[in-house]
Amino acid sequence: MLYDTHCHLNHPQFEPDLNQVLARMREAGVGRCLVAGYDQPSSLIATELSSMNKDIYAAIGVHPHDADSFSEDVERSLLSLMENPKVVAVGEIGLDFHYNYSDPQKQSAVLEAQLHIAQITNKPVIFHCRDAYEPLLDILERTAPIHGVMHCWAGDKDQARRALDMGLYLGFGGMVTFKNASEICDIAAMVPVDSLLLETDAPYLAPTPHRGKRNEPAYIRMVAEKVAAIKGMELKEVIMRTWENGLTLFHGE
Ligand SMILES: [Zn+2]
Ligand SMILES: [Zn+2]
Repeated sequence: MLYDTHCHLNHPQFEPDLNQVLARMREAGVGRCLVAGYDQPSSLIATELSSMNKDIYAAIGVHPHDADSFSEDVERSLLSLMENPKVVAVGEIGLDFHYNYSDPQKQSAVLEAQLHIAQITNKPVIFHCRDAYEPLLDILERTAPIHGVMHCWAGDKDQARRALDMGLYLGFGGMVTFKNASEICDIAAMVPVDSLLLETDAPYLAPTPHRGKRNEPAYIRMVAEKVAAIKGMELKEVIMRTWENGLTLFHGE
């Protein structure tokens, strides 16, 4: 079965037809999905969705874009959500110096506060990173050991090696199907299959031929097919190995 290890079914874009999206996900053979929070309200919705659906799990956290919304109240709320057994990770958290929607210093402080939550609750972390791989890897090397995944990998080869050396997983999604994605595909080819996770990041980054439209977990099969082609592996094998990786990282199985 396929595991969509990063999606946002908690996003308002899925409100009107979530039941159909879930039906298509199950029909496509996606056995589990992990819904990532990006602020306090979306973390709460992720937790609620996971409580209502056997095959949905939740990660909770404040995205670097929303770092300005982080406060002691939010921190307390995240800590209490962590007590829910369906909440299996902290995320998505990290640094995003591409848009700088939140002040970079505030982003770093909020990242550190949430790394602390992961450490005291002993949960893996889902990292978001854009135009900030060097500073993020520096912080993580200082904080190691940390279990987690660099979701939607878009760094270079040396940075990928640094992440792998720390034992982090690399997540790949719809971007591997895009034209002009040769560097990401080269890295997906290099990453050992034991360190690889599949994700959609729905509603964002829909794979070709749906590029530009709303993404959904059912489309993860197209990502799996492309990763199998890149790695010269059988689709079945990619699906099975990445499923097992998801269980190992997020469910301690
Ligand atoms: Zn992200
Ligand atoms: Zn995301």
